[in-house]
Amino acid sequence: MNTLSQEQENHADMRNPDLMPPVLVLTELNPANIIEGVMRDDGFQTEDEIQTCGAMRETCPYCEDQHLLLVLRQRSVKVAHLFCPQCTRCYHASYQDGSPALALI
Ligand SMILES: [Zn+2]
Repeated sequence: MNTLSQEQENHADMRNPDLMPPVLVLTELNPANIIEGVMRDDGFQTEDEIQTCGAMRETCPYCEDQHLLLVLRQRSVKVAHLFCPQCTRCYHASYQDGSPALALI
C-alpha cells in the first residue's frame, strides 16, 4: 500500500510543473575569489583537497550533460558554489528572483 501511494506521488510530481524544483541561474565565478589557492599552468591548486557533496540537477553550460558538483564552505573554500569537474569552472547559483540559492548552506 505504501509503495503504491509513493508511486502515485511521484507521478503527480512529473505532471504538475508547480511541484518541480526551481531552476537555478548560474553565474561563473573566478575561483581565485572564492577558493584559497594558486593558479598554475595545469589548473587551480589548493593546499587541501576540496570536498564535494554530490552532483546537482544543474549541468555545466560549457560541458554537455556534465552535472555540477556542490561544494560547501570548507578550509580552502570561502563561498559555497557549484563546480564542474570537467572544465573546473565554478558557478554561483541563484534563483530567478536573484536571491542566492546556496546562501544558507
Ligand atoms: Zn564544465
